[in-house]
Formats: sequence, structure tokens, C-alpha cells
Amino acid sequence: MVLAELADLVLPGACAGCGAERLRLTYGTCAACVAQLESLRPRAASPTPPPAGFPACVAVGPYAGPLRGALLAYKERGRHRLARPLGTLLAGAVAAIAPRDRPVTLVPVPSTAAARRERYGDHMARLAEHAAARLRAAGFRVDVVQPLRALPRPDSTSLDASERATVAVNSLRMAPRIGVLRRDERSRGTLVVADDIVTTGATLAAVSRRLEEADMQVRGAAVLAATELRKTRPGI
Ligand SMILES: [Zn+2]
Repeated sequence: MVLAELADLVLPGACAGCGAERLRLTYGTCAACVAQLESLRPRAASPTPPPAGFPACVAVGPYAGPLRGALLAYKERGRHRLARPLGTLLAGAVAAIAPRDRPVTLVPVPSTAAARRERYGDHMARLAEHAAARLRAAGFRVDVVQPLRALPRPDSTSLDASERATVAVNSLRMAPRIGVLRRDERSRGTLVVADDIVTTGATLAAVSRRLEEADMQVRGAAVLAATELRKTRPGI
């Protein structure tokens, strides 16, 4: 019962998972959605094909059902209190990658300034802080660090995989402060990149590349949801 201890947060309104109204909601979702979220077990996830440099990745679940609903409500509809249960779920994915007996450095994928304004804050940084708190409660030593800055990116939907990869890498900058860290400070413990959704994998591959260019070795990535890429059927 990974979320049971969070059952104190009762919110009014529609269920963030399925949209049902006038139900007693626990942390923003109805009982049926809570049960579904609690039944998710983190597992390895990879786009097909994975882009060059895509790290080992663990996802809490597929981007569907209550997980998708809760994530959209959190990200796009400003239901920030969902950060706590979603952070707990994300912690499960981090724990599947990082050994408990070593310090963990959690690096949330950075948001652009425009995205931060639109969403009233950095939604991934907030999720990472909640995941870190949950991991500390479970005995991990965890730091959340944000060594990267995200610049605005052009729309990449019409680009092919290698063009998307270039755009993704070029949109990331190492924060100046990180450049002066000593090597041992950069590589302390297990470095896990955290993101909300993995689709093509271009972002996670780009973040890993930028971090490794700065001598920060990435152990893997933890994400909440993995989209099932649409299969191309012959003749369609
Ligand atoms: Zn529901």
C-alpha cells in the first residue's frame, strides 16, 4: 500500500484520475483510481527504437488510465497537491534503480522559463522533492540537484529522430555553478534523472549526454509514465 499513508489529504471536486464527480476523494482521486495507482509496479521502459544515449529507464506505469489523469491534472490543471502522491510513485521508480546503501543524486529534467510560468512553478522539481522526501523516509540519502537549464525549443514534431536529438541537446545548458564543482562532488553517489513522461526518449538521452559531458555519470532514469508508441500497421 504505497500511498496509504497519504490518505489524509481529502480534496473536493472531480477525481483527477477518471473525472468522476461527487465522490469522496483521497489525495485528489477516487477510491477506484487509488487502487489502480497503488497496483502499479515500476518496470523497465524503453522507446522503440531507443535514441542513441538513452539511459536505462524505469517507469511507474503506462501513460494511461488514472496515472495519465492524475499527471494531466497536476501538470496542466494546476492541482499541485497531487505532487505528493505522484512523488511517492516516482520514488518507487527511483528505488528500482538506486541501491539503498549509496547516496542518491536526483536530477529532475529542467523546465523552460515559459513552462514554469504556465504551470506556476517547476513541476518536475516539485515532484523530485516529494520523491526525495519519500525516499529519505525509507532510509535513502538523497539530494535533488538541478545542474541544467532548459532553453526554449522549437516545435520538433515534424523532425526525424536525429534532428530531434540535436534540438534536445542544444536546448540544455549546464548551470555556471556546476562547472566549478570538483570531480568528486559531481560523481557522488548514484545519479538518477527524473522526468514525468517518456515518449521518444530524446529528452532523457539529451539530459544524460549533457550530464556526462560534465563528468556526471548517469545510472538511469526514473519516470512516472511511458507512452506506448503507436504501432505502424502496413497499409495505413
Ligand atoms: Zn477516479
